[in-house]
Amino acid sequence: MRRVAAMVAMAVLALGVPTAHSAPPEELPNLVPLPLYDLDVEKAEDDPDLPALRFAMATANRGDYALDLFAEPAGPGEATAHQCVDWATDRVCAGRQEVGRFVWHAEHAHHHLEDFALYELRRFRRNGVPDMSRAGLVATSGKVSFCIIDVEYDDESEQPSPLYWLPHPLYYSCIVGAGFQGISPGWRDVYTRGTPGQEIVLAGVAPGTYALVVTTDPEDRLLETDESDNVAVTGVEILPGPRIKVVCASRSGRLRCR
Ligand SMILES: [Zn+2]
Repeated sequence: MRRVAAMVAMAVLALGVPTAHSAPPEELPNLVPLPLYDLDVEKAEDDPDLPALRFAMATANRGDYALDLFAEPAGPGEATAHQCVDWATDRVCAGRQEVGRFVWHAEHAHHHLEDFALYELRRFRRNGVPDMSRAGLVATSGKVSFCIIDVEYDDESEQPSPLYWLPHPLYYSCIVGAGFQGISPGWRDVYTRGTPGQEIVLAGVAPGTYALVVTTDPEDRLLETDESDNVAVTGVEILPGPRIKVVCASRSGRLRCR
């Protein structure tokens, strides 16, 4: 019996018939942040005596497959996040991998994926690239949690998948169940400047030119075809007041500010 099974297995291998969950690892999304935009200085959320730099954040999916996250309840207000890594057909997931946690966000009144983004104010090196060392860090938001959905078309997308050019996208709401979230190929998730948490407090930051760095998935938990393009930079001049002036921006996925 065992020998027959082995022979069948060999025949299957010879014919190249895919076995369950043998999907190539490239059936994954590729998240790329845009440089932070729509910048302004306002009062800090938790301390109106302090100024804070506020901004909008957009993450595009420039891969061929969706970022598709499903939540499994794991306690009150908590769930584990499972990413699709194996697609049977379009929109039918055949295999998932645990990639993090969803938590209930009371202020937004829906579930968030933990540690989805990180905002940092850094010094520039002379070559126009931020100093990513510990010494280069001036201020940070800490890691930020997100509800991740399709908010707008990605007009810089090179290969929008025709399947997703529908009247409305697949991941359309933050309040579906405990958490059914994601970004379709050719779409972007957006957090506007007014969304709670979209700030870096400028306490003690001296006037000067700084790199405002965004990193998507800073813990590298989500699975992507390219993990090296999860950054983008906006160069800002902080003037007395404080007021700010944007002086340069990198391309999506790059660190060099131009
Ligand atoms: Zn939210």
